[in-house]
Amino acid sequence: LAQLFRPLDMLGMVYRTIRQGLTDMAAMFDLIDTAPEIVDAPGAPSLVIRGGALAFENVQFGYEANRPILKGVSFEIPPGGRLAVVGPSGAGKSTIARLIYRFYDVTGGRITIDGQDIRQITQSSLRSQIGIVPQDTVLFNDTIGYNIGYGREGADQPAIEEAARGAAIHSFINSLPEGYEAKVGERGLKLSGGEKQRVAIARTLLKNPPILILDEATSALDSRTEAEIQSTLDRISVRRTTIIIAHRLSTIVDADRILVLEAGQVAEQGTHFELLAKGGLYAEMWARQQNEVEEEAVTAS
Ligand code: ADP
Ligand code: MG
Repeated sequence: LAQLFRPLDMLGMVYRTIRQGLTDMAAMFDLIDTAPEIVDAPGAPSLVIRGGALAFENVQFGYEANRPILKGVSFEIPPGGRLAVVGPSGAGKSTIARLIYRFYDVTGGRITIDGQDIRQITQSSLRSQIGIVPQDTVLFNDTIGYNIGYGREGADQPAIEEAARGAAIHSFINSLPEGYEAKVGERGLKLSGGEKQRVAIARTLLKNPPILILDEATSALDSRTEAEIQSTLDRISVRRTTIIIAHRLSTIVDADRILVLEAGQVAEQGTHFELLAKGGLYAEMWARQQNEVEEEAVTAS
């Protein structure tokens, strides 16, 4: 009987190894067991980046057939432009990020990068040009150095450390007894939400992609660390097409354009000052957050 089980064990191991890789990727986007198979179109060419213009044209999408989540979303980001996406929780902001990475295909309309429909190019070429700092980062059960180096194949130690410095996590890693060799993940050192976010930011710095998506990338950080990293993120988003999904509106005041998403539809679009002047949903959210800041200040004093 043992004879019979040995190959099965092996198979199990291979399966688990493959599955682990997929799981790490999928967990980044809370997609476990829900994402349908996305396949490359036959003979699909690679994405050709000219400047990194990104457009949503009347995009419709739902995770389930009878429950639309995005109901005709359109926007355009010029090459190197910065778009902020804000809106209530559940509005569909993270869904926009997942669709750009093509974890799902749109059910209506299209998404283009430099005019190329992302369903018509290879997934690997698409994903190699996009860096995402997700809301919840999942770490591999490996060293912290590996977890950062994963951002770019063949990255050497100095490059990894430079990225870690940029993400304000180098001195933390240095303070660990095993430094960059420290094991993290489920079976290793437990990192806080903020530390994991910084690992994700370091990965992305290393990947150095022309298209950058920050999904509430600093939400788990305290305000001092947030300010520290915000300046790094501002710096790396220069001349890069960037989507910033933000919870704290104070972090996106400078965006070229702000899109207010509400229940899967674009409620408003404009600059910070245009939207304030409009006196709509954005102005309301801004006023509410200003009050919260004041209340915090009062509580703290
Ligand atoms: P936001 O980032 O704006 O808070 P999301 O894009 O994460 O919102 O989610 C939008 C809606 O889609 C929510 O109602 C959420 O419950 C739903 N949703 C998100 N992921 C899935 C999924 N994998 N399967 C089914 N519904 C989902
Ligand atoms: Mg979200």
